[in-house]
Amino acid sequence: MSDSGYVTAVAHAMLVGHGPPYDLTALVGTPRAVAAMGVAAAAGAVVNVVLVAGVIRRVAPATPMRQLVADRDRLVTDAAELGMGVVTTVCWIAAPALVVALLPPVLLLQRSLLHAELQEAARTDAKTRLANPEYWRQVATREVARAVRGGGSLAVLLIDIDHFKRFNDTYGHLAGDQALAGVAAALTESVRPGDLVGRFGGEEFAVLLRGASQPAAARTAERIRGRIEGLSLPVVRGSAPLRVTVSVGVAGLGPSRADLNELLESADTALYEAKAGGRNNVRLADLARDLAEISPRGSEISARSRARVWQ
Ligand code: GH3
Ligand code: MG
Ligand code: MG
Repeated sequence: MSDSGYVTAVAHAMLVGHGPPYDLTALVGTPRAVAAMGVAAAAGAVVNVVLVAGVIRRVAPATPMRQLVADRDRLVTDAAELGMGVVTTVCWIAAPALVVALLPPVLLLQRSLLHAELQEAARTDAKTRLANPEYWRQVATREVARAVRGGGSLAVLLIDIDHFKRFNDTYGHLAGDQALAGVAAALTESVRPGDLVGRFGGEEFAVLLRGASQPAAARTAERIRGRIEGLSLPVVRGSAPLRVTVSVGVAGLGPSRADLNELLESADTALYEAKAGGRNNVRLADLARDLAEISPRGSEISARSRARVWQ
């Protein structure tokens, strides 16, 4: 029996006042028995989440806490497993032959677990546990279309680690990999649950900020830049923690940026300017230049009306 199953059984025995063997009345015959079953199942679920989180933390220390304890897909899976456990137990007590009828749904549950794992793997970058470029683009394309349709705000950040080749050359590729994972975790912890962080290339990341205007995204970008600058990366055994910095390009939806490619192009240009401006800084997509491209009079549009476009 698994540890969480053991906890469920012990909690249930304590709540109903005696251990097995149980009959149907003791299991589900009274409101108290049903409540005991529910509480015991919940206790087992909590132990399961804690144990799994502990294992993931050991294997991938950079995994954010939110992902460890509040991953919706995993919670649904745990609930399905528990429900199946309860139904199987009741069937076994009522009529053991009924358990045969439960085999197909159990096999189906296992298949759906495998499917969920494969889907997760297909969306995730193995080194950083972030969204991979394909999945990030898929979600971002959908969210941009939705924001454009509904007249909402949305912004993207392109983030590139500064002088990362030098970091690798100095401390080695393995240390570089750990630094990548540390930066990835800091990025995930710096944004809201509805935002999406992806690894876009070697040491380049993309962040989708739902509902963010360009000024709001710029504030997030600056917070991220400061956080990464202050990050102590314990990547080389015995040496002082290492540090990296990032440059960030910011682009929000606007008149000349109404699809994902235009957003990414603008953010990339801004990122290039952040690099050219000395690195470890944030640059915004150039609003005046955008407006000038749309209309010859764009560059004459007053600062007030420009501000209004971006609010
Ligand atoms: P810049 O400030 O202009 O961005 O300089 P840079 O050195 O970061 O940029 P450049 O494009 O010259 O080098 C990127 C480096 O990122 C080179 C490569 O070794 C490193 N890199 C890319 N992917 C990985 C990876 O998965 N692991 C490690 N350790 N390094 C990687
Ligand atoms: Mg770089
Ligand atoms: Mg790069």
